[in-house]
Amino acid sequence: MTRTVILEVNREKPEKPKIKSAADVIRNGGLVAFPTETVYGLGADALNAKAVKRIYAAKKRPLDNPIIVHVATEQETLQLTKNIPLKAKKLISVFWPGPLTLVLRACEKVPKAITGGLDTVAVRMPRHNVALALIEESGVPIAAPSANRSGRPSPTTAEHVRQDLDGRIEMILDGGSTNIGVESTVLDVTVDPPEILRPGGTTYEELVKIVGQVKIHPAALAEKSVRAKVPSPGMKHRHYAPTAELVLVEGSVESTVEKTQQIINYNLRIGKRVGVLATDETKDMYEADVVKSLGSRADLSSAARSLFRLLREFDEDKVDIIVAEGVPLEGLGLAVMNRLRKASNYRIVKAD
Ligand code: AMP
Ligand code: MG
Repeated sequence: MTRTVILEVNREKPEKPKIKSAADVIRNGGLVAFPTETVYGLGADALNAKAVKRIYAAKKRPLDNPIIVHVATEQETLQLTKNIPLKAKKLISVFWPGPLTLVLRACEKVPKAITGGLDTVAVRMPRHNVALALIEESGVPIAAPSANRSGRPSPTTAEHVRQDLDGRIEMILDGGSTNIGVESTVLDVTVDPPEILRPGGTTYEELVKIVGQVKIHPAALAEKSVRAKVPSPGMKHRHYAPTAELVLVEGSVESTVEKTQQIINYNLRIGKRVGVLATDETKDMYEADVVKSLGSRADLSSAARSLFRLLREFDEDKVDIIVAEGVPLEGLGLAVMNRLRKASNYRIVKAD
């Protein structure tokens, strides 16, 4: 067991000595969880294969699920990749630092432990002063998947990280709640048109504005389990799941409310403790053991921000089943629905 040190840091102006001690851990091959604008990441020196392997062990992550490398400068991206296409350069200039991960051709020096054996590497520059200060001070690119136990909802606070990884990592930098709340968008730019492999904090609509046509991989929509060939084996693994089972109801608002209450009633009748994941517009319409709201349907950024926290809260409330309302697939809704569909393990009920 490792003693996990938790350091509170100022998210705007991170204290130098604290960043220095975290960077020391990274340089010595250790693991540091840190806040980004999306979710908390679990960082290790990306060029140290042994350190990267420790990430997989701490998270119990399947070894074939590749890890995103975080950089603080564009220069670092050049050192990790080759043949950056023009469209990728354009996307970098518009969206970095920010929640957009680009899948690019990897250089030989990128450890196979990071790429899961693929010849590509996923790279992004986070828009968070703590993350950027840590990468700069470490002097190396930082490999960082979400700082949760594999399969659990991603962490949006340092406390979530502690719950999952206490005693398994050297340090947690506590910079408060993360702002976006869902992970970055993963965009494969080794193909043309570029293809979204995972929807996230940068929306489809924003990407289209900059590069025109953008494809969405069927696995990114997560309408059903994908058995066919996927660009990254990680896309097949179960994800984001609370302990309680989750049923997702999709359709128009009116039909969704009706169907959701039917499913609630059935489960109450058979003696289950039932939670409902609703929205501000609908939350007062339900009768169940616990009702929580993702926020207004008119502002899906609030749904993205609160989704993972609410899924964890349902587990603390010890519900047996969560019935969740679907939200529109526009803007950040695509990322929210990807997480909900996966958390449901594809138990999706069409209400209309
Ligand atoms: P997380 O570990 O939660 O940050 O998730 C990382 C995501 O990036 C997963 O969906 C991976 O499949 C994806 N990813 C990382 N590297 C690559 C790559 N080289 N090619 C395609 N997808 C990747
Ligand atoms: Mg993850």
